[in-house]
Amino acid sequence: MKILKDFSLKDYNSFNLDVKARFFVKINSEKDLPKLTESGHLNTGSFLIVGEGSNILFRDNFKGTVIHPDFKGIQLIKETDDLVFIKVGAGENWDNFVNRTVARGLHGIENLSLIPGAVGSVPVQNIGAYGVEVRNVIHKVKGFHIEKEDFSTLTAKDCEFGYRSSIFKKSLKGKFIVCSVIFKLKKHAKPDISYRGLREYFQHTEEATARKIRDKVIEIRQSKLPDPAILGNAGSFFKNPVVDQETANKLIHKFPEIPHFPDQDNQVKFSAAWLIEQCGWKGKRTGDAGVYSKHALILVNYGEASGRDIYDLSERIKDSVHKKFELLLDREVLVIG
Ligand SMILES: Cc1cc2nc3c(=O)[nH]c(=O)nc-3n(C[C@H](O)[C@H](O)[C@H](O)COP(=O)(O)OP(=O)(O)OC[C@H]3O[C@@H](n4cnc5c(N)ncnc54)[C@H](O)[C@@H]3O)c2cc1C
Repeated sequence: MKILKDFSLKDYNSFNLDVKARFFVKINSEKDLPKLTESGHLNTGSFLIVGEGSNILFRDNFKGTVIHPDFKGIQLIKETDDLVFIKVGAGENWDNFVNRTVARGLHGIENLSLIPGAVGSVPVQNIGAYGVEVRNVIHKVKGFHIEKEDFSTLTAKDCEFGYRSSIFKKSLKGKFIVCSVIFKLKKHAKPDISYRGLREYFQHTEEATARKIRDKVIEIRQSKLPDPAILGNAGSFFKNPVVDQETANKLIHKFPEIPHFPDQDNQVKFSAAWLIEQCGWKGKRTGDAGVYSKHALILVNYGEASGRDIYDLSERIKDSVHKKFELLLDREVLVIG
């Protein structure tokens, strides 16, 4: 375990911001976690866990310690007639893992292809795309409980998964370092092509195998999402707002064309991208901070924008959506500083 000082986070945030962390610790072995507690670097409020930094906006240099769990390993745990249980280290790249499972003919995460980031962040975020959320395939999450100074295992139920949310963002926020995740994948095809783009494509072609779904998802993503290696971004900057039926009815009455979708508990979800687009932000640019021209939900760094520039732009977007629709947008991206 090496503790580095005044470390540039440029390679650890997908907005490509050249911010620094006062301390940076890359941990390769779970055995080092108790030692890290003793070192004082895990004191409440003074550290941040960073995987690949593809969902974080640093407004400034980080004055505490960045902990980068880099536990590797992909291990077959158990196999039944229908299921395969695989344990994956938090530091493995998510899409490499997806690719490996698809190559083995396994099913369950092909719709989640090409999402940037490390495996350790996947349960924290409950990542989702193209009709699928990762909660459906998570069996257990193993990690280090910082306050208890001990390792513990959570079942999927314990994780309290919600829309881009989990217990790791609520009561266990800043208290739990995910070390590995056990996924439960299917041996036999049960494709989910409920997402319109996939449904339309597969109804005219042959069977929707995991490989074919992965290829199609990659094609769609590459056609509309910017590659952070070329144009700094963190994917969707805001969550889709979810409101009660009464509020939704008022909005639909006032804006009959507003896209809306039924959500859990009789609530209604609206498209944040549509709301932002209606306020005229799509493709707008202020200095080097902008809204992507092909997708209004994605804020981009054209090169020299600072974290504050991007944050200020997000505030202006929030204000105008609130003024026009009386809806409050919540950030999906974690803002630090
Ligand atoms: C181009 C682009 C497209 C995207 N598309 C999608 C999409 O379709 N669907 C989607 O859901 N997301 C999407 N995202 C967001 C992002 O890829 C996911 O949120 C991803 O899971 C973040 O992984 P990361 O390792 O980069 O996490 P980070 O950004 O490093 O961290 C995210 C959160 O997890 C915490 N964390 C990280 N590792 C650990 C750990 N080991 N233990 C405890 N806490 C930890 C961090 O403290 C932080 O709160 C996209 C991002 C980009 C840039």
